Amino acid sequence: MSFDYDLFVIGGGSGGVRAARIASAEGKARVGLAEEYRMGGTCVIRGCVPKKLMVYASEYPGMIADARAYGWKVEAGAFDWAQFRSQLEAELTRLENAYRGTLRNAGVETFDLRATVVDAHTVALADGRRFTAKHILIATGGRPFVPDLPGAELAVTSNEIFHLDALPKRALVVGGGYIASEFACILNGLGVEVSQYYRGAQILRGFDDEARGHVATAMQASGVTIHCGTDVLRLEKTATGIRAVATDGTEREFDLVMYATGRKPNSSGLGLEALGVELGRNGEIKVDDWSQTAVPSIYAVGDVTDRINLTPVAIREGHAFADTVFKGEPRKADHELVASAVFTQPELGTVGLSEEAAQAQEPIEVYVASFRAMQTLFAGRQDRVLMKLIVSQQSRKVLGCHIVGPGAGEMIQLVGIAVKMGATKEDFDRTVAVHPTMSEELVTMRNPVRRS
Ligand code: NDP
Repeated sequence: MSFDYDLFVIGGGSGGVRAARIASAEGKARVGLAEEYRMGGTCVIRGCVPKKLMVYASEYPGMIADARAYGWKVEAGAFDWAQFRSQLEAELTRLENAYRGTLRNAGVETFDLRATVVDAHTVALADGRRFTAKHILIATGGRPFVPDLPGAELAVTSNEIFHLDALPKRALVVGGGYIASEFACILNGLGVEVSQYYRGAQILRGFDDEARGHVATAMQASGVTIHCGTDVLRLEKTATGIRAVATDGTEREFDLVMYATGRKPNSSGLGLEALGVELGRNGEIKVDDWSQTAVPSIYAVGDVTDRINLTPVAIREGHAFADTVFKGEPRKADHELVASAVFTQPELGTVGLSEEAAQAQEPIEVYVASFRAMQTLFAGRQDRVLMKLIVSQQSRKVLGCHIVGPGAGEMIQLVGIAVKMGATKEDFDRTVAVHPTMSEELVTMRNPVRRS
């Protein structure tokens, strides 16, 4: 049987674009790709990239204050949100075009339309066209989830936050995960008065407890008011803003309420269930280690499969799929020891097991260094850097590393290589320090603070 395409990809985000490019350029496949919104997906258009640019923008007031301590006669002045927003939009358009160029150069045919799956080998575009494909890849990502509460429509999510007409004076961020904590810091840095409500006992659940505590303390010290054990019961429009009635009995008014209470896989309405593609409780597409669904011609990668919801992971999954199916080089995406960073202020970089998870697995030693960094100490800041290694007592391998402080995201990428290679504490110790740096503390921790 002959098909219109060897591969049809639904979704032009990180995972879908990588798979399409490799299948076409290196696997010599005929590839079509449909995207209903903007090419580049969540990461490029309304996630990692614009978020990181907002992080940069929000860090300047602190830098200017530090500069004064170093002898510079400078004033921060006012932040021009409209200027930043239009420059941000220009950058996202540039990146979107770069993605389109990459696909074009790779020979992928793109369609700016929503696509659904009709049968195991057929996709339908929103304009009625139908194409057959030997393989179909679902790479539709996820979308923000807002719980069903009265007044939920008054809140924005990470989808809208980059498009605000003006910055609010008072903002409430709901949630305690990556996005909530990052945006609480960003808005705070931009001069907004920020409250963060989180239903649990401490933000950033799942990360190392000590590191979470360190981040939360530093966030509070820099001006974010974190209310743990607090959730919103309802939101009400008032003449002057939005009133949040909370579980702790308070009623506070804000100009902006942002919900960052998790994301859900974009799997509904694609026609998948009817075909026998299995979905999980959260709507995630169930796949095997090869990213193959229960229907052999249909694969899925990235957030829609809810494995590890990070761009570099989606890229690896898409690449492994294309290598396997179109290049005859069978390869599974590796989900072990994936390093990541939370771009709070201070940043949190992490790889491997938290102390709590490692402890549950085997006897460990914990090494901790907590200190004031030279640069900020000089500027009179109280910020402390945290570096932590979790070591197996038996194998001596470093099972986890957690860094809180400036540049933690950059540092953890490099520590990630050593940990992935199976480095032991003794390997760290015989590495000579680079002086004077913060990261030298990683190779100069002599005695464990505890064994358990
Ligand atoms: P997370 O899953 O990280 O956090 C969701 C937060 O919302 C948790 O604090 C959760 O509480 C809370 N929550 C969930 N449901 C409700 C509810 N019904 N009512 C009140 N609170 C609720 O999701 P995010 O949206 O922050 O981010 C999604 C994913 O995107 C991340 O998991 C990550 O994989 C990725 N991401 C990565 C980034 C990075 O690498 N720097 C940046 C941004 C996103 P509880 O803890 O109690 O469940």
